[in-house]
Amino acid sequence: MSTTFLDSIVELITKTSTDLPPDVRAAMAVALAAEEPATRAGQALTIIAQNIDQAEACEGPICQDTGMPTFEIHVPVGANQIWMRQQIREAVAEATRRGKLRPNSVDSITGENSGNNLGPGTPIIHFDQWEGDDVEVKLILKGGGCENTNAQYALPAELDHLGRADRSLEGVRKCILHAVWKAQGKGCSPGAVGVCVGGDRTSGYLHAKEQLFRTLDDTNPDPRLAQLEASIMAEANRLTVGPMGFSGNTSLIGCKIGALNRLPASFFVSVAYDCWAFRRLGVRLDARTGAIKSWLYREDAPSKPMLAPEVVAAGFPRTGREISLEAPITEDQVRSLKVGDVVLISGRMFTGRDAVHAHLMKHDPPVDLDGSVLYHCGPVVVKDEESPGSPKPTGEGGWRVTAAGPTTSIREEPYQAEIIKRYGVRVVIGKGGMGPKTLAGLQDSGAVYLNAVGGAAQFYARCIERVEGVSLMEFGTPEAMWHLQVRDFPAIVTMDAHGNSLHKDVELQSGQLLEAMGGG
Ligand code: SF4
Repeated sequence: MSTTFLDSIVELITKTSTDLPPDVRAAMAVALAAEEPATRAGQALTIIAQNIDQAEACEGPICQDTGMPTFEIHVPVGANQIWMRQQIREAVAEATRRGKLRPNSVDSITGENSGNNLGPGTPIIHFDQWEGDDVEVKLILKGGGCENTNAQYALPAELDHLGRADRSLEGVRKCILHAVWKAQGKGCSPGAVGVCVGGDRTSGYLHAKEQLFRTLDDTNPDPRLAQLEASIMAEANRLTVGPMGFSGNTSLIGCKIGALNRLPASFFVSVAYDCWAFRRLGVRLDARTGAIKSWLYREDAPSKPMLAPEVVAAGFPRTGREISLEAPITEDQVRSLKVGDVVLISGRMFTGRDAVHAHLMKHDPPVDLDGSVLYHCGPVVVKDEESPGSPKPTGEGGWRVTAAGPTTSIREEPYQAEIIKRYGVRVVIGKGGMGPKTLAGLQDSGAVYLNAVGGAAQFYARCIERVEGVSLMEFGTPEAMWHLQVRDFPAIVTMDAHGNSLHKDVELQSGQLLEAMGGG
C-alpha cells in the first residue's frame, strides 16, 4: 500500500475536520430556518452557518477543538493491522503539523502536551474484520466540551425535575431528556445524542458513541427504538434550551438509540452527546493500494453551502444595536452593559483557559491585565513559515491563528472571580456561562461575561488581526496565553454586573418544562 494509505488517511482527517457532512448540514439548515434572524438564537445560527461555509472554503478546522480522533475500521481477513495502526498514527501527526488537528493529547500525570496528538490512548483505533474486499475507515472528531457532557445512568434512578426513572423504555426516555437538559451550556447546542440501552459500563459508552456513526436522517430498524427516537426529538426541542443555550426552538438535531443485552442486576443508559460541529466521515479504500475508492456519508450528496456567498462575506449579521468597545475597558463601560446587549470588541485580547487560570491563582500574570479582555479559548495556531505570502498577516514569531472559538467557561468557575478581582479583568469571553461565584464577582468587581458562539472557530479567527505575542508557552499551544489584536469581535452579554444571568434564566425555564414532561 506504500504511502498511498497514509495520504488517504490524512485526506480523511482533513475533510472530517473541515467539511461538515451533508446530513448534519441539512439538520442545521432546518434549525436555522426555525429561528427568527434577529433573535439571539437566529444570530448564533447565522454565525454557525457562516463558520461551516468558511471552514470548507479555506480547509480550516470547523471548531478549534478538533477532539479525540476515533477511527472505526473494517479490514479484510489477512490485512496487516499493525502496519495500518502505525500509518494512521503518522497520518494523525501529519494532520496536526498541517493545522487540521489541534494538539490535543495531554499526559494525564504531568499535563504535558505531546504536540502531535500521539500518546497512550490517542488516537483511538478500533479494528474489526469483515467479509468485504475493501478497507473501510470511519472517523469521528468529538471535542472535549461535548465529551464532558456524556452521561451514564444506572436505573432505577432519581432525576432532577423528572422524578424516578424505572427499568423500562419510559425510564430510558427520562434519562435521555435529562442528559439533553444537563448538556446546556457545555456541549454547543443544537447537538445530537447517541444512546445505548444496556451493556455494561464500558460497552454501553462505546455503543452509544457508535450510534453517532448513523446518519441523522436514518430510521431505526427496531420500531420501538424508532418511536422513542422520534418522541425524544419532539420533546427535547420543546425544552427551549435553543442554540448555544440562548433559548430557542432547536436544542437537538438527532437522537440515535441502540441496545445491548445486560446483566440481570444492571440497567445502564449511556448517552454520548455530540455538538452541532458533528464531524464524522468515512472512506472505502482499495485494500491493495490504499487509494480512496469512495467516500461515506458524502458520496451521493455532496456538501451544499449553508448560506449565499454574499451572506458569508458580509460577516456578523448586524442589527445596528451593537455596542463597540475598545480594550482596555473601564469599569463604567462594563457597568453600563446589561444581559442581551451585543458587543463588538476591538483591541487587545488575551486567551486563557485551564492551565492559565490555575497559574494565575499562584503567580503574577505575565502581562498587565488591568482593563483587559480574557478569552476562554484554546486556539489552533501555526507557524506561518510555509506561506509567507499569506493574505492574513502573521504576528510576533510568525504565528497565525487558524481557528479560535470559545471553550467551556464553567471549568474556570473556581478561579474566575478571584482573578477578576486581583488583576482588574473587565471582560471575560467564553461559552456556556458561569456559576454563582463568578456572577457575584462580576457584580463586586465591575466586570461582565460575554458568550461567544461555541465552535465558530473560523468565524472568530477572522476577527483576529494579528498575534502580538505569547506567554506561558510551556503549557502547550492550546493552553498558552496568546496576545491577540482583534477587530469587531462579536459576543453577547449573558452575565452582567448587576447580578443578571441569561444562563440561570434559561436553566430555570427549561427545568420547569422538563418537570412538566416528567409524567410522560
Ligand atoms: S462545537 Fe463546542 S462542544 Fe463542539 S467541539 Fe467545538 S467547542 Fe466543543
